[in-house]
Amino acid sequence: MDKETEQKYVEAGTIAKQARDYGKDLIKVGANLKDVLESIENKIIELGGGCAFPPQISVNQIAAHYCADPDEETVFETGDMCKLDLGVEIDGYIADTAVTVYLGDDENMKLLSDASKAALNAALNLVKPGVKLKELGSAISKEIESRGFQPIRNLSGHGLDRYVIHTKPTIPNYDNGDNTTLKEGDVIAIEPFATNGVGLIYETESSNIFSEISSKPIRSMYAREVLKLVKEFKGLPFTTRQISRKLGMGKTRLGINELLKAGIIRGYPPLPEQKGGMVSQHEHTIIVKDEPIVTTR
Ligand code: MN
Ligand code: MN
Repeated sequence: MDKETEQKYVEAGTIAKQARDYGKDLIKVGANLKDVLESIENKIIELGGGCAFPPQISVNQIAAHYCADPDEETVFETGDMCKLDLGVEIDGYIADTAVTVYLGDDENMKLLSDASKAALNAALNLVKPGVKLKELGSAISKEIESRGFQPIRNLSGHGLDRYVIHTKPTIPNYDNGDNTTLKEGDVIAIEPFATNGVGLIYETESSNIFSEISSKPIRSMYAREVLKLVKEFKGLPFTTRQISRKLGMGKTRLGINELLKAGIIRGYPPLPEQKGGMVSQHEHTIIVKDEPIVTTR
């Protein structure tokens, strides 16, 4: 990796860390989820970054991919287990990071929140060229299971590339037997999820996070208006609010539905735990080398 590219990854990481720490302090009982997400989005832009994907806060049994709808007024409640996940890009080079904020005083839930953090730290300590993916997974599950919880096995960390959030290598949250090794210059996100459920998530039906997957033309006027705005995200995910802000709800809903039907965009639905278990998550982005750089720490 050349110096200039590394610099951009590091800059994205620095902004992501600041936005995460800022957002973490906004998550309080009684705060409005949508307002918090919009404040974080504004903070990322104010700090000079772009959103690599819309900031998300998934609560309790939802592991990931929860973004407030434009007309949603959800507020945080005592006992909520909130996963703040955000991404920042500088010239397409991405930092992806997440933290859990637990708004209660149950000791076992505090332990659950800490479990994914300890798992992340254990994996970070192993990162260097040559380490096997299964070794990272094993370190993650060991930390989580020793606290009496399960890692979520069908969610994983991932490689990052320019304007690409999910690419190889897949970083498992358990020992999946993968002998692939990390290479110098890989940029990866490690994101352990811990749960008191069964350790699997499923996909719900409707999404409010989308990305463009095909550039075929479309005739419908509304769909074309929405598509014009979608193009500005350069293939990175966006959420309904980011479109409806400019076009209003009616046009946005119709346009998005038509783009989905035409296969031009795809959705990323919320991911609840299969047995309704509570879920915690922590995530950092790392540039792999002999002295790895954790860009978001
Ligand atoms: Mn993330
Ligand atoms: Mn990620």
